[in-house]
Amino acid sequence: MNFRQSRLFQSKCLVNGKWIEGKSTLPVLNPFDDSVINHIPLLGQKECLVAIDAAYSAFEVWSQASPSTRSKTLRRWAELIDENAEELAEIMRLEQGKTLKQALAEIEYGSSFIYWFADEALRIFGDLMPSETPGEHGLVLKEPVGVVGAITPWNFPSSMITRKCAPALAVGCTLVIKPDEQTPLSAFALGVLAQEAGFPDGVINFITGDAKAIGQEMMDNAKVRKLSFTGSTEVGKILMRGAANHVKKLSLELGGNAPFIVFEDANLDLTVKKLIAAKFRNWGQSCICPNRIYVHESIQKVFVEKVKKAIEELEKGVFPLINQAALGKVERLIHEAEQAGARVISGAKRSGNSFDPTIVIDVKDEMSIAQEEIFGPVISCLTFSDERDVIERANATRYGLASYIFTENLHRAWRVPKGLEYGMVGVNEVGIASAGTPFGGHKESGIGVEGSRYGVNDYLEMKYVCMGAPDETTT
Ligand code: NAP
Repeated sequence: MNFRQSRLFQSKCLVNGKWIEGKSTLPVLNPFDDSVINHIPLLGQKECLVAIDAAYSAFEVWSQASPSTRSKTLRRWAELIDENAEELAEIMRLEQGKTLKQALAEIEYGSSFIYWFADEALRIFGDLMPSETPGEHGLVLKEPVGVVGAITPWNFPSSMITRKCAPALAVGCTLVIKPDEQTPLSAFALGVLAQEAGFPDGVINFITGDAKAIGQEMMDNAKVRKLSFTGSTEVGKILMRGAANHVKKLSLELGGNAPFIVFEDANLDLTVKKLIAAKFRNWGQSCICPNRIYVHESIQKVFVEKVKKAIEELEKGVFPLINQAALGKVERLIHEAEQAGARVISGAKRSGNSFDPTIVIDVKDEMSIAQEEIFGPVISCLTFSDERDVIERANATRYGLASYIFTENLHRAWRVPKGLEYGMVGVNEVGIASAGTPFGGHKESGIGVEGSRYGVNDYLEMKYVCMGAPDETTT
């Protein structure tokens, strides 16, 4: 496929319906070999302001569009994404490095949010409240919050955008989106298709460039009523502080340090299969990726042997991590773990920009590999002997995004999730994310949820209208 001729291979930013360039550019690199794929505009505060003004004007139009207009436009966008899925997946693969199969799966996952919220656009219901005063009525109206500033990461460059856009657009909000500078091409391609779907100019804007300056304008500009961010906890905290100036609404999807607990009564073959699926999705670069594998000491030996056998069957040397810093971090964590007494029993080999699937055993909770997000293809195993103890250890982190338990004991399957301080718990399952279910973290993993019927709440303001009783003397 010749990308350079594709209408989806766009390298400009979308502001108020126009594709704009910058005075300078940033290169987009291919993570396989660090070659330059394209150049994108290096924009900043000034252009962000223009985009916000465009979104602000468009809000008047879009928030007044009928629910069926919003629903149909969203649906058309999702259909166009599906129709162009292969090309979108190729673009994503080129800039992000995931396999074509995984890129296709992400495109489908991304459009599923748009379909789901296209339907939800028709169901933004208010409430009627009973009143103590005869003849009086209390109305609760649900209104779109306004202009949304959205900032997204590189690991899921398409679906992290649609997961925010779909509920926002469904309820009548407009957006200025800043995709990650490493994976902007997937975002621009979504912009091309949004235009074709018929969103009015200014409803969806994409800008790239100086992340700090753009983020600052989103925080400082009173026209932006909500910030929605997916990325690291550190940047999330900067935005949270900045949002305080205008008391903006905030959705934060931040980092994780997911425990994956394998009890002695688990179905080991199923557990290994699911662990491999979750760990090597996007080569470990996912916020819900199992990070700490707690294995009951009585089954550790057989479990590790099964995992080792399973990863021997995986293809190697062809899955790059996103950049040199990511490779450096994985190497550092393994090195520090070894220094502290852990043992590598498989992998830990780098070829070019890819890193082989790796198993590290004898990991202890205090090691950096168990404290930090690995964000790479490393299975880091710890052992435990007691249920209460492992729950406590699993919770001993500032993060609280995803967690997993594997057990065949029915009572344990009900009991343990209640003790885990996490926004999501997979019981004998790792496929926990879907358009119809709430995705979000506790503690320093975030605020709010995306997806599901709860997903629109973060883009709505509630307004109470008290309809006084008719004055009997004047009627
Ligand atoms: P990151 O460094 O926080 O970057 C994410 C986005 O924030 C990028 O668009 C980046 O822009 C922008 N950014 C950086 N500094 C900024 C600033 N000072 N002001 C405003 N924006 C700024 O995160 P990352 O390391 O790329 O992404 C991985 C992280 O995201 C992991 O922690 C992962 O767990 C988390 N994540 C969470 C979820 C979830 O749903 N909870 C999903 C996916 C990923 P530039 O790249 O252009 O600099």
